[in-house]
Amino acid sequence: MDLNDTLFERARRSIPGGVNSPVRAFRAVGGTPRFVQRAQGAYFWDANGKRHIDYIGSWGPMILGHGHPGVVEAVQKAVLDGFSFGAPTEREVELAEEILSLVPSMDMVRLVSSGTEAAMSAIRLARGATGRSKLIKFEGCYHGHADALLVKAGSGLATFGNPTSAGVPPEVVQHTLVLEYNNVAQLEEAFALHGADIACLMIEPIAGNMNFVRASVPFMKRCRELCTQHGALLVFDEVMTGFRVALGGAQSVYAKAIAGFRPDLTVMGKVIGGGMPLAAFGGPRAVMEQLAPLGPVYQAGTLSGNPVATACGLATLREIRKPGFFDALSARTRSLADGLSAAAKFEGVAFSADCQGGMFGFFLLDALPQNYPAVMKSDGAKFNTLFHGLLDRGIYIAPALYEAGFVSAAHSDADIAETISMAREVFTLLAK
Ligand SMILES: *Cc1c(COP(=O)(O)O)cnc(C)c1O
Repeated sequence: MDLNDTLFERARRSIPGGVNSPVRAFRAVGGTPRFVQRAQGAYFWDANGKRHIDYIGSWGPMILGHGHPGVVEAVQKAVLDGFSFGAPTEREVELAEEILSLVPSMDMVRLVSSGTEAAMSAIRLARGATGRSKLIKFEGCYHGHADALLVKAGSGLATFGNPTSAGVPPEVVQHTLVLEYNNVAQLEEAFALHGADIACLMIEPIAGNMNFVRASVPFMKRCRELCTQHGALLVFDEVMTGFRVALGGAQSVYAKAIAGFRPDLTVMGKVIGGGMPLAAFGGPRAVMEQLAPLGPVYQAGTLSGNPVATACGLATLREIRKPGFFDALSARTRSLADGLSAAAKFEGVAFSADCQGGMFGFFLLDALPQNYPAVMKSDGAKFNTLFHGLLDRGIYIAPALYEAGFVSAAHSDADIAETISMAREVFTLLAK
């Protein structure tokens, strides 16, 4: 009897689809989700006690691996002092200072509990600060499940988006314009048509919700120029990339390519909580001071800046800011991406991979895609064979072809080598 099956059957009776977040349900790839019993370092053990090398890491937060002793100690200490007070604590200030010291585009930051909440609040702030309603997002980018963001492109640039979820009234997304990622001409046209009404442009600078697609440097440069020219705020959704692709996030990567580059607002989550519910948004003082209680833009949270979550986040950030941390993590991630590419090439499988810091993506395509329609050309059936082939061999990657992967500091050279050798076995099946 497979204990994952037993648990999943039981879960489905009390929880819709048996899961508390849809992609966990394996609907895209088929099969039964693995119920995690415990995790340590680069591994987790499922309900059958089978070990997996974990390349999801809670979808990004576990950059130090599971159960890092320093983080565990910080959390244990914090728990003994109390779980939640609904009153300020010194640790929130310390975490805010830590974040601001690492991300120079932010003068002030507000802590919240999820990426969804951070993105939703950043949009309200952008709208409040500019006195405008419209926003631009890109097809294939995910910014959480706030109503205004569950939207797909309308029939043309003059029309706004259509809801992608039941329960979102069309009026709620009528201010959201959905554009193609990396398409400069369309971006220019959108600003020419609507520039004076656009409050913000929100973007995943490296889009991890379509696996791994970088905004090209010319495209990002144009995003910045057009926002500045039209008085719209450039909002970087770094929930996934923040403290993950580099210590300073994806914005530090673009700042190397574009002189003086910085976004206006930044949204963060995942790594900043180290696995606890914690997220944040921040930017220039003049904009952030528009927030309640100083300004007219309302935003609040009972558990915001939670003392246990902030202890976990702070301990995590203090580890990753140690000298050499990102060099080592980047090298390991690169060795995985290169090793997988070489193995696929050897077995004659179409494959392309990219990575930055501790985040990677790969496609069963000859060349890296530049936008969502190109990502969707991936062969779903082949991906499923790859996914299940790896899973059977104890390698856990995201159960959907449009999700990024994550390497942690706990992944050893041996873990990477084992992953590549298992992948090579699976590639032989794909090549047939
Ligand atoms: C995960 C994610 C979110 C949503 O964060 P939650 O904590 O799941 O609400 C938003 N934006 C991006 C880029 C993400 O990867």
